Amino acid sequence: MPELPEVANLARQMDRELRGRRVAEVEVVQPKCLNVPPEQFGRLLVHTQGNHVTSRGKWIFMDLEPGATLLLNLGMGGEAFFHREGESLPGNRQLAVLFEDGCAFSQHFWWFGYVHAVKTADLASHAMTSSLGLDPLDDGEFTVGTFEKLLEEKKRSAIKTVLMDQKNIAGIGNVYIQDILFAAGLHPLRKAADVTVSERRVLSDVIRSQLRNALQLGGLAYEKDLYNQPGCFKDFLVGYREGKPCPVCGTVVQKIRTGSTASFICPHCQT
Ligand SMILES: [Zn+2]
Repeated sequence: MPELPEVANLARQMDRELRGRRVAEVEVVQPKCLNVPPEQFGRLLVHTQGNHVTSRGKWIFMDLEPGATLLLNLGMGGEAFFHREGESLPGNRQLAVLFEDGCAFSQHFWWFGYVHAVKTADLASHAMTSSLGLDPLDDGEFTVGTFEKLLEEKKRSAIKTVLMDQKNIAGIGNVYIQDILFAAGLHPLRKAADVTVSERRVLSDVIRSQLRNALQLGGLAYEKDLYNQPGCFKDFLVGYREGKPCPVCGTVVQKIRTGSTASFICPHCQT
């Protein structure tokens, strides 16, 4: 499942590639991905022009002039590809935006995803994105202060649950959480209230550095970018390394159940 690094990488590539292109037509193969009927979806987007593309957590926001926003969420996984004029579109696409210059942007979801269109003036009332939490790569928003406040509010919850709730922090899922908790020396089931002040500082630094590093590498090696190329991030510390030695102390990495998710931990380093 794509998380912040993959989604932010995709948004940057879309910003570079789609800006200035004018929408000629929208081809809807799977209307269930939409928030409105296909005709209304088309009316909102056709003849608009791509402006900046940004992301928050697992959502991509494509601003279109004048006054529309396309929202994309790849859900459990999928691809969003750019196609130059004359290139054929993937046969399994659920949706494609066709531009006047012959280029196209297609989406395919493995399980289920969302392509929503709203008037930009109504963006704040789009329920699925308006409730998203802090952006960990926004230094003005994700600070020691806001992070401490969050942990204080959620002090009775397990730290893993707090960090993965998209309403608290947007963009961390069950992939990147593994090495974040390891690098911070925290057991996933530790109560937020029991994370000390110095551990909180380390944790907030680790969240930023792990996600930034993965973003620089273009995201995970098993996810595809806008050009159908895989990311370069594949060297986990403990994530998905069950039975292998901990890179710090050599203790065997364990896979444990934590609520509804699996966790990979070093039982010696993470307490
Ligand atoms: Zn260890």
